[in-house]
Amino acid sequence: MKPAPFAYARAATLDDAFGLLAEHGDDAKILAGGQSLMATLNMRLSEPEVLIDINHIDGLAGIEDTGGAIRIGAMTRHVDVETSEAVATHAPLIAAAIDHIAHPAIRNRGTFGGSIAFADPAAELPACAVALDATMHISGKDGTRDVAAADFFEGLYETAIGPGEILTGVSIPTIAAGWKPGFMELARRHGDYAIIGLAAQVEISGGTFSDARLVFFNAGDRPVSAPQTAALLNGQNWSDELAEKLAASLKDELDPPDDLNADGPMRKHLAGVLVKRTLGPLAGDK
Ligand SMILES: Cc1cc2nc3c(=O)[nH]c(=O)nc-3n(C[C@H](O)[C@H](O)[C@H](O)COP(=O)(O)OP(=O)(O)OC[C@H]3O[C@@H](n4cnc5c(N)ncnc54)[C@H](O)[C@@H]3O)c2cc1C
Repeated sequence: MKPAPFAYARAATLDDAFGLLAEHGDDAKILAGGQSLMATLNMRLSEPEVLIDINHIDGLAGIEDTGGAIRIGAMTRHVDVETSEAVATHAPLIAAAIDHIAHPAIRNRGTFGGSIAFADPAAELPACAVALDATMHISGKDGTRDVAAADFFEGLYETAIGPGEILTGVSIPTIAAGWKPGFMELARRHGDYAIIGLAAQVEISGGTFSDARLVFFNAGDRPVSAPQTAALLNGQNWSDELAEKLAASLKDELDPPDDLNADGPMRKHLAGVLVKRTLGPLAGDK
């Protein structure tokens, strides 16, 4: 299918974009990398009258070490995140996740901010952002506000970005000493959206866990945290018994949906498999 006709406006500055958003309201859509938007237009799931292209606004792309955090500009392409030393060093969970996003051609064009703003519950980066306690920077004509990742994802493709606003960047706290990232997803083929996936960051010393954040994707209408299960890790060393306990807890804590790829009970089972395969090796138990 072809998209419904639309007008195209190229914003030269953020103020330009805010003016265009104010002028066109709900009839406008922001165009970032276009990797999700163009598909929704082609399928006529969305029929905006105007696309506001933010690709040419200075300062929206780039990765900056701000001391204690790295700030990833919204228009930073996935490929630039993938090849960033700062990301590999300070946000290794993102580095582990990024090459699971689609294929190189899509990562060349798709943007970090587009993935976060689109808020697909099956996407990797929203879950990583929640696991890492990231801060989303949202700007509008009245200024910039910051929203914690845990509050940013409000439902299926719904976020805290309000009318007239643009996501300008995401700040990710630098990984602290003693913490390790754990990322894994189960997909039919590498690059497909996951049937279910896990973004984890755990504090572990001498094989003993002391804190953990477990966030699943494609397990609900937004990234799904599992604090009850994560708490079971505190003070524990890895063992088959612990793995079973975690899997049982996830069956209680998660309520994943059914779809063509897997039903809810299968996803609950796979969540236990992911925790076992991800956290076991982190504890040195291959
Ligand atoms: C075949 C295929 C496979 C894919 N597989 C995966 C996958 O496995 N995992 C995954 O996570 N993604 C996957 N994607 C999506 C890809 O990651 C996209 O890059 C991403 O979802 C959207 O980024 P984008 O820059 O292309 O945004 P666009 O498509 O341009 O925009 C997406 C939406 O977000 C809004 N938006 C974009 N940027 C902003 C902003 N800064 N502020 C406010 N609103 C904004 C747009 O208005 C639009 O509604 C896949 C895409 C394709 C085509």
